Amino acid sequence: MSEKSIDYRLVIYGAGNCGKDAYWYYGAERVIAFCDSDENKWGKVFLGKTVISPAQLFENKYFTVVAIRDTKENERICDELNRNKVKVTSFSEIEEPIFLKLLNMIDKRPFHMNIETYNYCPMKCVFCPNRILTRNECVMSMDMFESIICQYISDFSGGPLGIGSMQSDFLSDPLLIERVRFLFEKKSNLWIYSTTPLLSMAKYSDSELIEVFRIFDFLEISAHGYDRDSYRKMAGVDGFMIFECQLERLNRLIKRNNLKVDINILFRAYDEKEYINSEFYKKCISLFNVSEVKTSFFSWFGTIKSDDIPEKATIITRDNSKEAYNCVVPNANIAIQSDGKVVGCGCIDWLSKYVIGYVNEQSIDDIWHSEKAVAFRKSFERRKLPDICKECALYCPITELKDVKLEDYQPLDGLYYYASQKNEKRETYLKYE
Ligand code: SF4
Ligand code: SF4
Repeated sequence: MSEKSIDYRLVIYGAGNCGKDAYWYYGAERVIAFCDSDENKWGKVFLGKTVISPAQLFENKYFTVVAIRDTKENERICDELNRNKVKVTSFSEIEEPIFLKLLNMIDKRPFHMNIETYNYCPMKCVFCPNRILTRNECVMSMDMFESIICQYISDFSGGPLGIGSMQSDFLSDPLLIERVRFLFEKKSNLWIYSTTPLLSMAKYSDSELIEVFRIFDFLEISAHGYDRDSYRKMAGVDGFMIFECQLERLNRLIKRNNLKVDINILFRAYDEKEYINSEFYKKCISLFNVSEVKTSFFSWFGTIKSDDIPEKATIITRDNSKEAYNCVVPNANIAIQSDGKVVGCGCIDWLSKYVIGYVNEQSIDDIWHSEKAVAFRKSFERRKLPDICKECALYCPITELKDVKLEDYQPLDGLYYYASQKNEKRETYLKYE
């Protein structure tokens, strides 16, 4: 019998983020109260439950789940509860099997696959290396594209598929309509997503766009400004009027044709307050979900400098030299460029500095299991950091997968972080039901 299915009520020790995860895992009905060592929290309400003191817990001897991320502190509290004859388990013991299950999945397959079908973007965003460095323009052939998709489905049973998700825009792809017709036939094995600045949508007819968006599960739209000036400052082009018009058009198309694509808008900004107070921002939140107003940007291994971006926006770097955990990005994702090169990191390595394979010479399965790919994925634990990882602010430890919301994760649920956030929404829904 699994821990979760045993029927008894409990107290969660730790009224913080880890406690919140535990609360989500066990469900509101089973949680009697929270307990915390911090006396400032005693008697207060956390997630609808009262926070009690350790003394109250010792007296009542409720079954307790200790949910504290700090391992030493977690152990100390478990010992103390044991000494006071309180039956106890540690939340990390529950998270660990989920983590191991996901690591085991990565040994066999990537969670996601990104294909950059065309390596061009018409924009000149001030925070993007596209403005400074150029790549030889390349459109992936339909033969190569179809072969990759067929392998993804036959060897890995399909899953999330990003098209044009690196430094490019899938709506600029000259073969887009052919590709979406092919993908429509394979849709039952694919969860399709992409990111776009949306301007190139203007060149398609309504009927073409319906064909495109009926295959999509998730689309992230980059919004660079709230009026013509702010847009020009961030995007480097005078595109605000087209952007606003296409955003409204997309909303109409989705509603009229009952399209199921989930839309998220991400603002790339230089002044959070100005953006949030604008009429355009208010319009955006009335149409779609807005996830973030982002004012900090990566340096792209030193390519983008503070002088390149407007005042108030910042460039972030970090020193990853002491990080012991592998980065989750190359472990979750396989990234294929338009010329068939497979790169170690699909988020950052758009200049193909760390190639782990070539789809015109090897199968995707062979590439994923090759020593080059494994070496890139495990570069942090092997203390052999590729140059592009050394200062990368996108680094995210693989322990991010210790997430109870991923307990039942299967790739066809979508991007792993999307699936996790979806479950977060479920939590909110449960709370206010
Ligand atoms: S829209 Fe995206 S890919 Fe294009 S220039 Fe801007 S940040 Fe780069
Ligand atoms: S640290 Fe940065 S460059 Fe390296 S794998 Fe992670 S996201 Fe990619």
